Amino acid sequence: MRVYADNAATTRMRESAYNAMIPYLRANYGNPSSIHEDGIKSHEAVESARKTIADCIGANPNEIYFTSGATESNNWVLRSTQSVITTAIEHSSILNAVKCPIIYPNQNGIIVPDRLFFNNVGLVSVMYANNEIGTIQPIREIGNICRESGIIFHTDATQAIGHIPVNVENDNIDMLSASAHKFGGAKGIGFLYCRNGIELPSFHFGGSQERGKRAGTLNVPAIISMAVALKESVENMEKENEKVLSLRNCLLDELLAIPDSYLNGDRKRRLPNNINIQFDDVEGESLVQILSARGIMISSGSACSSGSLQSSHVLRAIGLTGGRANESVRITLSHENTEEEIDYMISNIRDCVSHLRSIRSVR
Ligand code: PMP
Repeated sequence: MRVYADNAATTRMRESAYNAMIPYLRANYGNPSSIHEDGIKSHEAVESARKTIADCIGANPNEIYFTSGATESNNWVLRSTQSVITTAIEHSSILNAVKCPIIYPNQNGIIVPDRLFFNNVGLVSVMYANNEIGTIQPIREIGNICRESGIIFHTDATQAIGHIPVNVENDNIDMLSASAHKFGGAKGIGFLYCRNGIELPSFHFGGSQERGKRAGTLNVPAIISMAVALKESVENMEKENEKVLSLRNCLLDELLAIPDSYLNGDRKRRLPNNINIQFDDVEGESLVQILSARGIMISSGSACSSGSLQSSHVLRAIGLTGGRANESVRITLSHENTEEEIDYMISNIRDCVSHLRSIRSVR
């Protein structure tokens, strides 16, 4: 059996998104900047996608800028201001892009709004949901504090969009980053939402695409896939989350029944598909490798930091020692997982954990 349970790293493209992008690869391949009929067709498809995406998050179409993904969107946001405050659990595309004061979460991985302090700050950036431990931040409250203080509020909503309700009006969000491949769209495409009235510098220079702010020929097929995937994710969210939550809770209860295992991050304020769990005396990387050999795909730390030997900055920020962080793995489900797959994971994880513990104890 093969089980894909690394959906925070990337998701399988939704079938509808895949079908929708195909005609724009060979049949309707006009450049949306061209003024002939083929160009106009592409332009209309792109603008309709922009409206769909805007509608899904409560924005206006002219507040959506297409980018290559959340990394670019985050970099763009940080380039728009000199003075930023962010958190210790952000993605590397925030933390490596700027040196600035950092707020720490509580030991459950939640940013407590009382801990926010501002001194000559132009922008606050707090992620909506964490990519490693799945914790969901009090975005509305933080957005409200920023608004009252006249500070621009950005959220990296890459793991939240399409998975939990996100609305820029209700949530007091001024800027937002997203990537399509996290919700069943193509890879290498995303968007930046920037509220009308906020000054946004050009990301790079060239043609007049994206109102002159982000030059370069638009990736029409990928944009179409993103809009279709987001609409379908939002429309099916309740139904899909009900299934995912029940599978996740079943898996989590069984894994926590393994002796000396601990959940990382808050259990309640958490994405419905996320488990991040530590097993004493089990190296996370080894567990990932032997499960992979048995057809089960999970992750140790975040996929972006796998391959480097550093322990997760997120797990260390919530107080885990480097050792315990390295004993942690992340399992992120999707609506496509089945009960049989969950059973297969439970028995294999149990087995592999005790195997790894036994070979460690004889060393
Ligand atoms: N932010 C978060 C929270 C993420 O999880 C990721 C992807 N791991 C990114 C930003 C970057 O997304 P991309 O690689 O698609 O640019």
